[in-house]
Amino acid sequence: MLPDPAYFDHHATTPCDPRVVEKMLPFFSEIFGNPASLTHAHGRKAASALEDARIAVARFFAVQPSEILFTAGATESNNIALNLVAPGQHLVTTSIEHRSILEPARRLERRGVALTILEPDREGFINPEHLRASIRPNTRLVSIEAANGEIGTLQAMAELSAICRERGVPFHSDVTQAVGKVPVDLSQLDLASWSAHKFYGPKGIGGLFARRGIRLEPVIIGGGQERNARSGTVNMPGTIGMAAALQLRFGEMEKEAERLTALRNELWERLVAEIPDVSVNGSRGLRLPGNLNVSIERIEADALIVAMRRFSLSSGSACSSGQRGPSPILTAIGVPEAAALGSIRIGLGKSNTAEEVAMFVDDAKRAVAKLRGISAG
Ligand code: PMP
Repeated sequence: MLPDPAYFDHHATTPCDPRVVEKMLPFFSEIFGNPASLTHAHGRKAASALEDARIAVARFFAVQPSEILFTAGATESNNIALNLVAPGQHLVTTSIEHRSILEPARRLERRGVALTILEPDREGFINPEHLRASIRPNTRLVSIEAANGEIGTLQAMAELSAICRERGVPFHSDVTQAVGKVPVDLSQLDLASWSAHKFYGPKGIGGLFARRGIRLEPVIIGGGQERNARSGTVNMPGTIGMAAALQLRFGEMEKEAERLTALRNELWERLVAEIPDVSVNGSRGLRLPGNLNVSIERIEADALIVAMRRFSLSSGSACSSGQRGPSPILTAIGVPEAAALGSIRIGLGKSNTAEEVAMFVDDAKRAVAKLRGISAG
């Protein structure tokens, strides 16, 4: 049997930390009560653990526990956030958002919402002046992601937020790719969405921050859980796991970011120096620590990914990887189609080492030479 490939796709998901799993385990069979069953001790025990988890999450983000809602993940949180916008109102977002923003935005547009989609520059930055110019008297929400999961660009959140504040428009951010990797300042935001599985927590659980005073319009209605914003019995092991994962990130994030930035820069420099006609997409300075996105001329990314079988790799967002055609994110920043089809997205994380990075460069050199030989011949 071949050894497991090295995991180089930490933007798609991360492994759940065993310390997190340990904290979750009692919440399957021992502390199994429904936190809404307040008539008995089983339910009350669960309710108390749920509120402790909410307090821990709120503490990580330096907000109030009442401003944190548990959801099934960033997709759901994004849908709830955008549901604030009613027909006749105006929504501003960007062309480099995750599909869980863009799809609900397009549906809102079909239902009579005016939609402005801001375009990024060549490195993936949204120009704050473009945001300022887009805001209208009926703008109900601005939604701009903090960090991009394909090209790693970190937006100028303070500047974008200041414009929204000045104009009195609620500002939502999909902070899914940023949480646990770089500091996220919720004091600049009115709403924010994330998923625990991106920061070494479990899948199927996430959060929505909604600043006090914002009246959410639920997407899923029923039993009225999560203060009516998200009905359905809450995923208890998930909430406990998310809180535990955030607590761990609090202590580990800074050092890890430094280590991953150094590993990523090493990979960047070696790939560009040792393989002809390689270029990097996105920004160097304002970028997620473990992220690299490279265009390799005269190869197809899909073929390279198959050839690089000692690595788990992707050419873009996992949610679009079944789709054919160039990445919409790369297209939005102006990467020509042929280059976009020859691009891979690398997401380094906790498990990756300098040895793996060296092995990656060796394998990439060999695979690219072979693929170019084939396509030239
Ligand atoms: N937003 C961003 C930026 C993401 O990267 C992802 C996951 N790929 C999501 C939202 C959706 O997260 P989930 O699938 O956990 O709902």
